[in-house]
Amino acid sequence: YDMAELKKLDMAHHLPAQSDYKLQHELGGSRIITRAEGCVITDAEGKSLLDGMAGLWCVNVGYGREELARVAYEQMLELPYYNTFFKTATPPPVRLAAKIAEKLQQSNPDLTHVFFNSSGSEANDTIFRLVRYYWELKGEPKRTVFISRKNAYHGSTVAGASLGGMTFMHAQGGLPIPGIEHVDQPYPFGEGFGEDPAAFGERVAQTIEDRILAVGPENVAAFIGEPVQGAGGVIIPPDSYWPKVEAICRKYGILLIADEVICGFGRLGHWFGHQQWGIKPDLVAMAKGLSSGYLPISAVGVSKKIVDVLIEKGGDFVHGYTYSGHPTCAAVALANIEIMENENLIERTRTVTGPYLAKALKRLDAHPLVGEARSLGLIGAVEIVSEKGTNKRFKGAEGTAGPIVRDLCIKNGLMVRGIRDSIVMCPPLIITEAEIDQLVDTIEKSLNEAEPVLRAL
Ligand code: PMP
Repeated sequence: YDMAELKKLDMAHHLPAQSDYKLQHELGGSRIITRAEGCVITDAEGKSLLDGMAGLWCVNVGYGREELARVAYEQMLELPYYNTFFKTATPPPVRLAAKIAEKLQQSNPDLTHVFFNSSGSEANDTIFRLVRYYWELKGEPKRTVFISRKNAYHGSTVAGASLGGMTFMHAQGGLPIPGIEHVDQPYPFGEGFGEDPAAFGERVAQTIEDRILAVGPENVAAFIGEPVQGAGGVIIPPDSYWPKVEAICRKYGILLIADEVICGFGRLGHWFGHQQWGIKPDLVAMAKGLSSGYLPISAVGVSKKIVDVLIEKGGDFVHGYTYSGHPTCAAVALANIEIMENENLIERTRTVTGPYLAKALKRLDAHPLVGEARSLGLIGAVEIVSEKGTNKRFKGAEGTAGPIVRDLCIKNGLMVRGIRDSIVMCPPLIITEAEIDQLVDTIEKSLNEAEPVLRAL
């Protein structure tokens, strides 16, 4: 590949996602990634990087899976596409729905049904309308309010970005739409710094009940949250948080939605992240790891109590996408889940690689720039501080220390993400122990190189 030519075309014609277009031009175009194998991506100039982000939190089974390519090829020859609008369906999504339900029912036997979309944002849009429609059918149309968390990411569509709690997204395009309340996130290293974690988890969960009472429980439709907030900065809640959130939702008859777009399909060492805390959501959004990013597909797990109302009360739910239940995408997702089963990737993450990453990150505890290095399963974050033992940030670089260290990681052969003052990681679940060591060692090396830069700011 000719990197220079591709960069020129990139600048002339291509608008990448969530991008600073001025920066795209200052950098002379995007880095063009051309190949990948296992956990390693390679760019057009032949530079290889360990992919510490599994693409964008999604390539759980790693790159270069011939079996997934073969399944897509065979399905495309047999039946590339048909819709689910004409009282029709095709075998792959029907089988995939049953397979997903089997995994969901490990934690909640009531999660019996699945609705397909193409992206995580669409999954949350489906949830948004389905939940309000459910309450309308139930004869409680006033229940329209969604409670979400500050800094949450639930997608880029109007409903997704509104459910999300990123104020810098809200500032673009006049969001959020009405009827969405944002409460605190359970961020032990942030608002909970120095507080007993269990007490902090309960205190933050309590803000949900406070908000429900302020809004009026009769107006509240649902609570939505990621088991572990990913794009918000890998925020791992204290163990006391989710059980209390669930109890509050039950107390007021409010639906509980787990956004498992990142946490689903093994990330935390369970099929679904919420299974870490044994809670029972009524709706579950999933995408990314569902197909390991090989083809776009997302799904919504829907509990029987909701489906029963849809069946009993009748009427069309006028909602769906051209690509809902896309047979080729569904066939690839099914084969992807089979890989996870055959290679025991979920259990391996819970018992081998997840604990290995946690232990490797402990090595960073002594680093003068590291305020905290945390992980659960194969997702983690390193908090960068200016003063050891505190959560104080570098004054001249507040909110940007992460991207500074990230750029050094990339130079040193590791793709990670810098979110505010932290480095976050989310490698493919097939990562080896040697690659985990390489990941942590590269972060350490990059922190060493960043230290004089950050101190000079
Ligand atoms: N929810 C969560 C938790 C996500 O992390 C994302 C994507 N990063 C989405 C929803 C949106 O998914 P998509 O980009 O596929 O629309």
